[in-house]
Amino acid sequence: MANVKVTKRASEIEYAIRDVIVHTKELIKNGKKIYYLNIGDPAAFDFKTPQSLKDALCGAIAKEDNYYSPSEGLPELRQAVANKEKKVNNFDITADDVLVTEGISEGIQMLLGAIVEKGDEILFPGPTYPPYISYTKFFDGKPVAYETIEKEGWQPNIDDLRKKVTDKTRAIVIINPNNPTGAVYDRKTIKEILDIAGEHNLPVLSDEIYDQLTYEKQFVSASNVTKDVPVVGLNGFSKVYQMTGWRLGYMYFKGEGKQLAALKEGVEKECRIRICANTPVQIAATAALNGPQDFVKDIVDRLRQRRDFSWKRLNEIEGISTSKPEGAFYIFPKIEGIGKRWKDDMDFVVSLLKETGVLIVNGSGFDPVYGKDHARIVFLPPIQELEEAYSALEGFMKKKVKRDSRGHVGYG
Ligand code: PLP
Repeated sequence: MANVKVTKRASEIEYAIRDVIVHTKELIKNGKKIYYLNIGDPAAFDFKTPQSLKDALCGAIAKEDNYYSPSEGLPELRQAVANKEKKVNNFDITADDVLVTEGISEGIQMLLGAIVEKGDEILFPGPTYPPYISYTKFFDGKPVAYETIEKEGWQPNIDDLRKKVTDKTRAIVIINPNNPTGAVYDRKTIKEILDIAGEHNLPVLSDEIYDQLTYEKQFVSASNVTKDVPVVGLNGFSKVYQMTGWRLGYMYFKGEGKQLAALKEGVEKECRIRICANTPVQIAATAALNGPQDFVKDIVDRLRQRRDFSWKRLNEIEGISTSKPEGAFYIFPKIEGIGKRWKDDMDFVVSLLKETGVLIVNGSGFDPVYGKDHARIVFLPPIQELEEAYSALEGFMKKKVKRDSRGHVGYG
C-alpha cells in the first residue's frame, strides 16, 4: 500500500521552542544532564500553581462540574475577565465581549483562521512569538515582520511598520511585553501603532499574556490607549497564574459599534465546532481572577532577581551581549561568531547543547531576519541553576574563541 500523504500546511509547521528538544533525545539516553532554558513554563520550575487554584480545580471536579460549558466560556468567567481588565488594565469591556479559549495558542489559531484568506498579510513584530508566523502560513497567508530595534531595547521601528502596510494587510500584531525580547512598549509607541492601524482600517491583535510581569516599566494595554481603532486582546492564565498545563486563555473584542461584530461571530463559530474549553479549569480560573492577587508581586520580585542576575552574568561572557528585559522571563542575547565559527544560530544552539547540556532556542526561530544571530534564554530556573548553565555557556564560548598575537578575537 502507498504511504499516506500529509498536507504541505501540516508538514511545514515549525515551532522552534519545542523543535529543539529533538536534539536532546540521544543525550538523555547517554545520561547527560539537560538545562531546560527553552520553554517559558513557570510551573515547571519553582513557581508553583497557587494552592487556592488547585483546590478550586479539585473542588469543581468533586462537585461534578464536569460537563461541557457554553462554547464562548462560562458566563461567570467571562464576567471575571471583564472585571480584571478594568481593575488591572483600566478599560471597559463586557462579559459578552470575551471568548474563552484553551490557551492563547488556540486563540491565535481561531483568530487567524477568521482573518486570513490566501495571500493576506499579517504584520507582527520581528522577532515574534512563532505561532503568529506559523498560523498565518497555515491559513495560506503571508507573515510580514516589522523591525524591532535591538539597540533601543527592541522597541518597534514605527517607520518600518508604516512602510510594510499594503493593500493585502489584514491585521497588526503587538506582543507586549514581548516574547522573545522582554521589551515593554510605552503608551506613545502603542498609540503610534494604533494610529497606523486606524489610517488603514486594520484591527490590532494585542497579545498581553505577560501583562502583570513587568519590572521597572508600567505596562499599558492597547485597549487602554485606543479610542476608535478595534483591538482584539489575547490573554490567559499560563504565565501569571502558573496554570500552563491546564490550558486556558481568553480573547476580547474591543471595538466601536459593529466594527468587530463579523470577526467575533466567525470566531464564535470556531468556538462551537470545538465544543468548549475545559469546564473545571474555567471554574478554577474564575477563582484565580476573583481571589487574592498578592502572589503576583512575589512572582515579579523573584523574577526580577533572576532577570538582574541573567543580564549581568550573560554580559560578562565574551562573545555575548544583551539588552535588559523589561518584562516576561526571556532574555535575547546576540551571539558573536555566528556565520564564522558556527554555520548559523541553530548550529550554535545544537553545538552548545551537545557539549554542555544547555538547551536554548535559536533566534531565527522567532524571525529569520530580525531574530538571527541571537538565542532566547528562559530565566525561570533558580539562580544557582542559572549560574551552572551560564558557567557552562561561558566555558563553551571561551573554547571557541581564538586570539591572535595582538589579542584580536577570531574563530577557529
Ligand atoms: N503568547 C505569547 C506571547 C507567549 O509567549 C505564549 C507562551 O509562551 C503564548 C501566547 C501561549 O500561551 P498559552 O499557554 O495561553 O497558550
